[in-house]
Formats: sequence, structure tokens, C-alpha cells
Amino acid sequence: MPKARTPLDVARYEELKSQGLSQRQITKELGIAESTLRDNLSRTICRAYFPQWRQATTWTIKPGARGQYRDAQGMTRATSEAGYCDDQTKTIWVQARDTAIIIHEICHAVTGGGHGKTWQAHLAAARRAAALGDQGLAAALTEEVAGYAAAPPITARTIYRRVPDVLVDTPNVTFAHLVDYLAYDYGLTGPELLAKCSRLRTVFEQARRQEMRSLRAEIKTWTAYGKAPQLLAPLTQWLQALEAAST
Ligand SMILES: [Zn+2]
Repeated sequence: MPKARTPLDVARYEELKSQGLSQRQITKELGIAESTLRDNLSRTICRAYFPQWRQATTWTIKPGARGQYRDAQGMTRATSEAGYCDDQTKTIWVQARDTAIIIHEICHAVTGGGHGKTWQAHLAAARRAAALGDQGLAAALTEEVAGYAAAPPITARTIYRRVPDVLVDTPNVTFAHLVDYLAYDYGLTGPELLAKCSRLRTVFEQARRQEMRSLRAEIKTWTAYGKAPQLLAPLTQWLQALEAAST
């Protein structure tokens, strides 16, 4: 969070925002730089929802994605998460200026971990503070609290379970593409996904073999029943796509 600067007229900012002005238009209207507005808003959020957070001034909130990586085609891609809290550089990345997302990430910064009980407690406290003034924000945070209280954490096992589904949708998927796809889905970079799921290649190979086995069995059964080859074409094509995929 940034150091002290000219105080921002938050009431005026909220008024302009409610008129539907974009961030850029608001900064123009207020006669300040976008970074100044950002810093001031961050401080306002910290003061309102994390008044006890002593470390606030050592953190920075930046717009954009926190990471880039090269995908299977050699294209540079950005991570897809809405927000990210980087403990190492004390940076919170947010893709869009959304107070609920910023609060979600600050809870990580404060607790230094995942979406466990302590994190949920801080989010709940911020929600109570929001309920006193900003009903829309309070509602958004209520959903966050409920979502994480119920949702199981994403583990390697959760990700492995996705592999057969991906194969059903895309039988000719290569391992590299699978990594790109799952990484994007979970807001990770490819290398991060592989570090988290060290058995991914084995799981992928097993799922492919399993899929091919059951397809061959199915084709064999239907052929024995005298089903015409053209009626089996979708299954045969599917099997061929699996067989042809270079991994
Ligand atoms: Zn989170």
C-alpha cells in the first residue's frame, strides 16, 4: 500500500463513479494521475476494512496480471486470475478495479496463506464493516465468504480429476496443450501447474489408455451385435484421434 499523498475526495469519486464515468474520466475530472487515484483508493480500502493492518504501507496494489508464460505454441500468455497476492514482492495484482477482489487479496496479504479459517475470518470482518455503509460490497463479500466456506481447496487431486473430462471434450489433446488449458483454468502458469501436479503426465497417459481401452471394447461389442460400420464412425474417429495424438 502506498505512502501518504494528497487526500482524495472519496465522496466526489463515488459520485462520479455512480454516474458511470470510467476510471480514466474520473482522474481527468479530479485532475489527478491514475496512479494517485489508485493509491488513494487502496489506502481508503485499508483504512475502512483493515484498520489494524500495520503492514499496509509496505504493500502495493497494481493493475494487470501478475504473471506471464509461454504456452505450447510459444505464445506469451498472461495469467487469468482476477486478483493475486504476491508475498515475496508485497504486491497485490488486480485485473479490474473491484473492491471485493482487492479485499479478498488483502485478506491473503494479512494472513499469508490460502482460503482457510483465518482468511475467512478476516473476510467476514471486512464484510461486517462493509455492511455499515456499502450494501453492494457487503453482498459481494457475503458470497465470497459463503463460497470459500463451502468449496474444497484446489489440490493436485482436484486437477487430476479434470483430465478425463478434457480428453472427452478434446480427444487429440497433447500433454503440452493440456497443461496450458488447465493452467489457464486455475489461474496458474504452466510451470506452476506442473510443480503442483507432479504426476500430471502419468495421470494423463493413464486416462488416455483407459479411454482407448473402453472405446475399443465398445466398438468390438457393437460390431459383434452387427452394427453397421458407418454407425460406429463417431466412436472410431474418436479412437483414432486419441491414437493419433502425439504426447
Ligand atoms: Zn484467494
